[in-house]
Amino acid sequence: MAEPVFKRVALIGIGLIGSSIARAAKEFGGLAGEVIANARSKNSLDRVAELGFADICELDPAKAVAGADCVILCSPVGTYAELAARIGPSLSPGAVLTDVGSTKQSVMRDVGPFVPEGVHFIPAHPIAGTEFSGPDSGFATLFQGRWTLLTPPPGTDETAIAKLRKFWEIMGAQTAVMDAAHHDRVLAIVSHLPHLIAFTICGTADDLADETRQEVMQYSASGFRDFTRIAASDPVMWRDIFLNNREAVLEMLARFTEDAQAMARAIRWGDAEYIEDKVIRSRKIRKSLIELKQA
Ligand code: NAP
Repeated sequence: MAEPVFKRVALIGIGLIGSSIARAAKEFGGLAGEVIANARSKNSLDRVAELGFADICELDPAKAVAGADCVILCSPVGTYAELAARIGPSLSPGAVLTDVGSTKQSVMRDVGPFVPEGVHFIPAHPIAGTEFSGPDSGFATLFQGRWTLLTPPPGTDETAIAKLRKFWEIMGAQTAVMDAAHHDRVLAIVSHLPHLIAFTICGTADDLADETRQEVMQYSASGFRDFTRIAASDPVMWRDIFLNNREAVLEMLARFTEDAQAMARAIRWGDAEYIEDKVIRSRKIRKSLIELKQA
């Protein structure tokens, strides 16, 4: 059988994303000779041992990364600085250090200073997920047909980048390389702002008078239900995303607020053409997504 891309992959954090990678490594082959799982709590690691998709479960992150030729941070981005400080001295020369975090400039800022000479640091972000978390929620096909964006700092070893791309491509993802700042702006509009709106709408509905709130729940089939699915995501993960992509999220929110005001004006003044045009443009976006198989 062909050599796997990496001999020993250490997953620091083994929830939805980490356990999906581990499951893919088991099910697809060609990815990793051995998978080491690390989590913050013993409870989660005991569960991982029961589920059986990791070769070794190790509670100490420094021990988990020792001897690994690929280390993937798969915990909320707010935990990265502390984790990087702990694992930095144990990273092997020549290893790839990467992550799956939803913000990328913060990863450069928080992890970069702890990367030893000779370790290839390649931040990455699979644009795939669900609203569920923990080791039970992962599945091997999560990344199929989805994009994984890599944001290597300038001058990163091309062979290491190619290896990491191959790793994601075996899992069924398409890969692209981009600048971290660009990533954060793009993700602010396609993911972070929609989540912010979903959390806000759910909050608004919850603040309504008792009688109305009950009806929101009862008749939620229209529109609101889709927002509640998005808003069911992990609170710690989303707190960390908003706090670590502050500028881009605030910029996109300001633009959105302006556009929402323009819509309010059109409704107030009966500007039917403006309203219809907005809906037509939105339908076109949905149609393109379906054509690109990203719906
Ligand atoms: P998750 O299911 O909540 O799992 C998080 C994992 O991180 C758990 O194993 C948790 O351990 C561990 N962890 C938490 N705090 C830690 C700490 N201080 N030190 C070490 N480990 C710690 O989260 P996820 O959905 O897989 O998300 C993981 C990362 O992927 C995040 O950075 C997120 O931004 C990114 N991401 C998520 C999605 C998505 O849709 N969920 C999509 C793309 C990228 P315990 O179980 O012991 O607490």
